[in-house]
Amino acid sequence: MPELPEVETVRRDLIPYVLGATIQRAIVHRGFSRMIKDSSIKAFRETVEGSQIEELRRHGKYLIFRLSNGRSWIVHLRMTGAFLISSDYRPRDRHERARIRITSPSYTSEMVLAFNDVRRFGTWECVPTEHENDRIPSGPDALAIDFTQDDLLGKLQSKDTSLKSALLDQAVVAGLGNIYVDESCFLAGIRPDRKAKNLCAREVERLYDAIGTTLNRALEQGGTSFRNYVNAFGLPGGALSHCQVYQRDGQCCRICDSTILKIKHAGRGTHYCPVCQD
Ligand SMILES: [Zn+2]
Repeated sequence: MPELPEVETVRRDLIPYVLGATIQRAIVHRGFSRMIKDSSIKAFRETVEGSQIEELRRHGKYLIFRLSNGRSWIVHLRMTGAFLISSDYRPRDRHERARIRITSPSYTSEMVLAFNDVRRFGTWECVPTEHENDRIPSGPDALAIDFTQDDLLGKLQSKDTSLKSALLDQAVVAGLGNIYVDESCFLAGIRPDRKAKNLCAREVERLYDAIGTTLNRALEQGGTSFRNYVNAFGLPGGALSHCQVYQRDGQCCRICDSTILKIKHAGRGTHYCPVCQD
């Protein structure tokens, strides 16, 4: 599933093309009306068509297109959703669910913003911008300045779950999923199956720093490609080869040479080094 670095990579790819652009047509292909939440395709089209994209934000794993008509078009890519931008006529891919035609004063021909989604879990919805916060996770974005060490400490101390479950909870911090929770716990030297509330302040400090470092490193690599993730130009990210524990079970730890273990925890495959993490 695309997590914060992958969604942020897509956002940065799209910005030069979509900012200031006018949505000419929004086409949701037959059979995919379910991806539009709480609205018909017709109502969605009528809301977005003719409006300008004034801002493209991200909160956690959500992309938010703020429109000139006071509405926000909120997108969650879920497992395999992907936006692909192209400048000329683009043949329809077999996994394409929708396409948006946009024009902008900064380029001459119409552009196509295609939305592909193999697993079909991605969602779109349009809400008044003042209600945007009701539709996105309440936790601070993991790379935003309002995500602080004290905030993380307070939230972990109130959680009666494992660290892994707590970090996957988007009300604690928004943007982390399976890959970056495992990688952050490794970098912090803390086992993901520890009780969240039992972490001491020093450990939370290490964890907080590890989350920032892990996400920023992955962003520099253009995100992690596992399963189907591609950026807005259809290219995979390069971060998987940099993972320390994720998908490396049975291989040697790059720090201590021990074998990386994988356990099922919080319903998810969880990877850790039994020596580097305690
Ligand atoms: Zn190790």
